[in-house]
Amino acid sequence: MVARDIWGLALDIVLPRFCFGCREWRTYLCDQCAKQKINYSPTLRCAKCDRMATDGRTHVRCQSKQTIDGLWAMAQKDQLLTRMIWEAKYQGAYEVLQPLGRLLSENLPIWLVNFDVVVPIPLHAKRERKRGFNQAEKLGGQLAEQCEIELITQALVRTKESKAQALIEEKQARLENVRGVFGKGPEIGEVKGKRVLLVDDVSTTGATLLNAGRILKRHGVGQVWGVVVCR
Ligand SMILES: [Zn+2]
Ligand SMILES: [Zn+2]
Repeated sequence: MVARDIWGLALDIVLPRFCFGCREWRTYLCDQCAKQKINYSPTLRCAKCDRMATDGRTHVRCQSKQTIDGLWAMAQKDQLLTRMIWEAKYQGAYEVLQPLGRLLSENLPIWLVNFDVVVPIPLHAKRERKRGFNQAEKLGGQLAEQCEIELITQALVRTKESKAQALIEEKQARLENVRGVFGKGPEIGEVKGKRVLLVDDVSTTGATLLNAGRILKRHGVGQVWGVVVCR
């Protein structure tokens, strides 16, 4: 805790709070830029086939017992959000994720607001140690807090290290890359029968969410929706 506080302090010095959109002082994302400079998703797409789908709900033809029920992406191919996430993940500026988590909660669609549990996509322990935090957990934590939904971080574990999805082009290859990398965690019993928001920072092909969601469904989770900042 103490170490984290010091880190937070150090971060203020290293990364001053300037809005990523307009350089306004004191915030990483000002209200004005959040309203005007973000490319909010005009339509949503099915996690399985990538085609347009009402509300992001998985098509009936794409659905199976273990497929996630839908995928809601707040924004699409958004440069501002992509820059913020990159800065957080690769420059260690995890505080940048706080306004993003809040933005997720403010924009969370009506059909997801009364879900029971937030489960962040886990990182492999080795990668989390190296990075010092899990970006999905930071986002999920903020979302859970703002929406007053329970946060469960140990329902899933990442048992194998995989290549960064961003380095792989094709959907099938991405699916292969994350196949079998997730397993049940010690808190898997806590999510049985619940409706789960499965949170990640970015989802391009949906492969990670599909694979992690499969583990949850296999262990009796009622409904699973993917929630990401950007697709
Ligand atoms: Zn701004
Ligand atoms: Zn589909």
